[in-house]
Amino acid sequence: MRQAGLLVWKAHQEAAALVRPGITTREIDQAVAGVFEQAGAIPLFLGYPGPTPFPAVSCISVNEEVVHGIPSDRQLVEGDLISIDTGCKFHGWCGDAAVTHAVGNVPLETERLIEVTRGTLDLAIRLLEEKSRWSEVAREMQAFCENAGFSVVRNFVGHAIGREMHEQPQVPNYYGESWVRSGDFQLRPGLVLAIEPMVNAGTEKVKAMPDGWTQSTADGRPSAHFEHTVALTEHGARILTCAPQDGEELPW
Ligand code: MG
Repeated sequence: MRQAGLLVWKAHQEAAALVRPGITTREIDQAVAGVFEQAGAIPLFLGYPGPTPFPAVSCISVNEEVVHGIPSDRQLVEGDLISIDTGCKFHGWCGDAAVTHAVGNVPLETERLIEVTRGTLDLAIRLLEEKSRWSEVAREMQAFCENAGFSVVRNFVGHAIGREMHEQPQVPNYYGESWVRSGDFQLRPGLVLAIEPMVNAGTEKVKAMPDGWTQSTADGRPSAHFEHTVALTEHGARILTCAPQDGEELPW
């Protein structure tokens, strides 16, 4: 899974290097696709079943778009916020990660939103080693966002990941009586989770767009998204979609 994670990391590096005013979200998607293609990895988002099979290798969501945005001829402009989410399968194992970028200079609120969302993911990864159940982590993620004046999306959640991208259990980013009763789980070595907080500047409510895929904030205010694939091992939490470490074997 680390090899798949490294490819996802590399795809994000190449995507990040392209983010600037004037580039289209399709051009960014093509760069992501190129990394997987070159390594012989299977893109997990392309053709994903839905209202129509998902038509691209990454989901690219701009400004008020929360998740599942479709890459297109839309050109980024200074001040945009862009969330890129992608995953691949390599030698039978999956990796999945998302990153949000500012396009040039963005409003202070957008900058804070990006930092708080990244911080929520970092917090969750740290707490994986300290807490015994996921609900305890989710509660702190929600509090962290709300203390910053933002809200956590409820409609979309993280997931376990392995041979398939979306495995059970679901991994919510908030505390809720109903999911805790039926879906809370123990944190133990061997679990691999795709943890992916989606944080909104305003309401947590989202609405589906007419393309059938894109989900936007109900109030039109911006949203950010960060995700890592993280393994819980006997020696603690290990991020599988982070940069190569010294001496690591690389899949490219
Ligand atoms: Mg995911």
